[in-house]
Amino acid sequence: MATSVPSPTQNPVGFPAGTVLGYPRIGRRRELKKAVEAFWAGTTSAEELEATARELRLATVRRLVDLGLGADDASVPGSFSYYDQVLDVAAALGAVPSRFAPLLGTGPDDAGRLDLAGYFTVARGQGDDAPLEMTKWFDTNYHYLVPEIGPDTPIRFVDDRVVREFVEAKEAGVVTRPVVVGPVTFLALSKAADDAPAGYSPLDRLDDVVAAYADLLRALAAAGAPWVQLDEPILVTDPANAEELTEAVERAYRALATDLRPLPNPGSLPTETSGSGEIPGSAEDVRPAILVAAPYGRLETSPGPDGRYHDFLAVLSETDVEAIALDGVAADLPDGLPQGLGTKTLVLGVIDGHNVWRADLAAKLDLIEQYPTGAHLGAVAVGTSTSLLHVPHDVEDETFAEPGTASGTTLDPRLRDWLAFADQKVGEVATLARALTEGRDAVAEEIEASRAAVASRAEASGVVVPAVRERAAALTDADFARGDYAERAAAQQERLNLPPLPTTTIGSFPQTPEIRRARALWTKGELSDADYTVAMREEIARVVALQEELGLDVLVHGEPERNDMVQYFAEHLDGFAVTANGWVQSYGSRCVRPPILWGDVTRPAPITVEWSAYTASLTEKPVKGMLTGPVTILAWSFVRDDQPLGDTANQVGLALRDEIADLEAAGIGIVQVDEPALRELLPLRRADQPAYLDWSVGSFRLATSGVEAATQIHTHLCYSEFGEVIGAIDGLDADVTSVEAARSRMEIVPELRDAGYSRGIGPGVYDIHSPRVPSTEEVTELLELAVKSIDPRVVWVNPDCGLKTRRYEETVPSLEHLVTAAKAVRATLA
Ligand code: GLN
Ligand code: ZN
Repeated sequence: MATSVPSPTQNPVGFPAGTVLGYPRIGRRRELKKAVEAFWAGTTSAEELEATARELRLATVRRLVDLGLGADDASVPGSFSYYDQVLDVAAALGAVPSRFAPLLGTGPDDAGRLDLAGYFTVARGQGDDAPLEMTKWFDTNYHYLVPEIGPDTPIRFVDDRVVREFVEAKEAGVVTRPVVVGPVTFLALSKAADDAPAGYSPLDRLDDVVAAYADLLRALAAAGAPWVQLDEPILVTDPANAEELTEAVERAYRALATDLRPLPNPGSLPTETSGSGEIPGSAEDVRPAILVAAPYGRLETSPGPDGRYHDFLAVLSETDVEAIALDGVAADLPDGLPQGLGTKTLVLGVIDGHNVWRADLAAKLDLIEQYPTGAHLGAVAVGTSTSLLHVPHDVEDETFAEPGTASGTTLDPRLRDWLAFADQKVGEVATLARALTEGRDAVAEEIEASRAAVASRAEASGVVVPAVRERAAALTDADFARGDYAERAAAQQERLNLPPLPTTTIGSFPQTPEIRRARALWTKGELSDADYTVAMREEIARVVALQEELGLDVLVHGEPERNDMVQYFAEHLDGFAVTANGWVQSYGSRCVRPPILWGDVTRPAPITVEWSAYTASLTEKPVKGMLTGPVTILAWSFVRDDQPLGDTANQVGLALRDEIADLEAAGIGIVQVDEPALRELLPLRRADQPAYLDWSVGSFRLATSGVEAATQIHTHLCYSEFGEVIGAIDGLDADVTSVEAARSRMEIVPELRDAGYSRGIGPGVYDIHSPRVPSTEEVTELLELAVKSIDPRVVWVNPDCGLKTRRYEETVPSLEHLVTAAKAVRATLA
C-alpha cells in the first residue's frame, strides 16, 4: 500500500530529519514545581534545587532519545527553564530593571549575574519591588515575564547557563540543540523601563542585545553545539512596527549568521567539548548552525489598508541562517517558497504542539511532500508546530476505564488511542522522520495505526451526537437575537426595582481553607455527597448573610462549589474529559489541567440551578446566577480539531442556553455569563479577527438569547484594554457588562461611550489583585469619574473581578467602602 517517497536531498548542514521545538519542563510529576516551591519556602537549598533540576533535565533528554530522537544529531531540544524562557534571556544578559540591580553579583565569578534566588526575585518581586509584569505568550495560556529595558539597562552575556546545560547533556551522551528566545522577539516583547525617555523603544538596544547573543553563540560553538534554535514568534503577529522589525531581523541575523562563521562541519562534532583549540579557526568568530523558529502562526502579515503586507519568511530567507521552522498547524504552510531559501532546511511543523490529538501520519507526509527539495530548498525536516510546552507529558500517565466502572479520575478507554500528549508527539515526529529518510514502507504499520485511530474517532459515538447536530442545523438568526434593548431595560427595571448605581460583585467570594478542605475530602470519597452539599449550603448562607449586612443590591452565591470556572462546567457536561495528570505550565510553578473537549456537547442535567435556587430562597434581594461562557470554556480547554471552533462554541452555547432557561424557570431574574477569555482567543493576525469575533460573539448570543425581556443578562470581561474587541462588547448584547477598570482609572468608560455603547456597564471600582483595602474616598473618586463620563443611569458598582483569591479580612472592608461610596455618589445624582 504505502509507496516509498524519495528521500530528501542530503541536508548540507546536517539538520536532523525530525525534531520537536521544545518539551515540557515542569516534570511529569511536577517535580520542578515542587522543587522550586520548596526552595521558595526555604526548606531546600539552591544546591538541592540545582541537583533536582539537573536530574530532571537528564531524565528528559534520555527519555526523548528513548522515544526516537537522535542522541547525537541535535534533534533533542535543550529547552529547560526554572521559571520562564523570556526571563532566562534577561538573566543571561543581566538585563534587570534598576530596582533589582542590587541582586546582580559583583565578584570576579558572578559579575552582573543573578543567582537562583535573585532570578526568582525578579520573577516574583520582593517587598516594595514589584516583579516583572506577566502577560500572555502569543495565543497560548502560557504567561511570560515582560523584561524592562531602558537606555542604561545592563546588557552583556553574563550567564552561560544554556552552555552549561548543553555540556551537561553532552557528557551524559546526548547532543542537544539549545533553545533560546531570539533577540528580536526578546526586545519586541520587552517594555521600556520606567525611567526611559519619551519615545524610547527597547529595540533601540538591538545592537547591544545582538552583541550579547553573539557571545552566547561563540560560547555554544566552543562547547561543541552543532545547532542552536532561536525562537522568533513575534514575526507571526501583526506588529504595528513591521517595517522596524524587518530591519531588526536583517540587522540581528546579519550580525549573528553572516558575521559569525558557521562551524565548518556542523554535522560532525569536534571531539572535545571545551577548548577552542579543537575548533578549526578561532572560537572568536564561529557559531553553531542556526534554526530560527516561528511558532503560533504564519510568517506573512495581514495586508494593510494599502494592500501591502510583510513577508517575514522572505526576510528570513535572505539571511544566512541555516534553517527555518514553520508552524503548519496554526496556519497553512505557504504555497510558494521564496527564492532566497537556497540550501536552507525548512522544518515543517505539521505535528500540533498546542493541542492533544493524534495525527494522521499519512496526511502529514502528503503535506511534507509538497515541498520538494532542489534548487530553492536544501532540505525538509519534520517538526512540531510549537514547543510541546503547551501539552501534558504522556497519555500513559492517565488511567482508563469504561465510564462508571471505576472511581477517581479515569478516561474513556477510547481516548487512549485518540490522544497524543508530548511523548506521543515525539513518537509521531520520529516516525515521520523515518519515513522521510527510509521511505513510508519502513513505518507502514505506524502509519496504518494512526489512520485507524483517526478514523475510529471520526465515527465514534459521543463524538457525533445526532440530536446535537440536528439542533444546531435548525438554528436561525432569531436564536441569536433578543428583543429591543429599551424594552428589555424597562421590563427588567420593573421586575428588579434597583436603585441607581446598583451594587454587586463578580461572583466568587473567598475560597477559604475550609471550603478547599471539604472539596478535597469529597473528591477523595471521604466526605459524602450529602455532607458536601451541606457544607456548601452553609457557606452560601454565610455569603448571603454577609451581602445583606453589607447592603449590596444584587446578591451572588459565592461559587464555593467550583474548583475552577471552566473545569466545573467540563465536569458537568458530556463531551468533555478531565485528566488526572494532564498538567500544563501556565506560568512559573503554576500548572493547570485543561479539560479535553472531545465530543458533541450535551448537558445531562441542570448544573447550577439548585445552588442558585437555594440562594434565592435565603433572601428577598435579586440573586444573580453565574455561568462561564462558551468562548472561555473553549479557550481554557483542549478543543477537538475535527470541526470549526465556531461549531463547537455553538454546542456549548446551546447547553448553556438550556441552563439559563432552567435558571429562569427557577425564578432567577439575573444571569451572568463570564467571558474573560474573549480577547484572549483573538487571532494574532488582523485578517483572521473578523471571522473569530463573528463566531465567538455568536455563541454568547446563542447562549443568552433564549430568555424573556425581563430577565437580565450580565457578562464579565476580565480586562480593561479592549482595542480590537470594543465593538464586540456591544455585539454581545448583554444588558450589563462588568470590566476591570480601577488600575486604568476608568479609562474604558469614555471609550465605551465614544464607541456608542449604551447598555449597563460595571467598571470595576477596586483592584482585587492586591490585598490592599481601598478607602471609601478612592472608590468614590473612581465612581465619580465614571458617572461623569457616561450616563449615570447605566453605571453599576462592582469590584474589578471575582474575590476567590482574596481573604475575608480584605474583602469585607473593601465591599463596605464600595457600598458607602455608591450611596454617596447616588445622593449627588438626585
Ligand atoms: N465569576 C467569576 C468569579 O467571580 C469570574 C472570574 C473571572 O472572570 N476570571 O470568580
Ligand atoms: Zn474577571
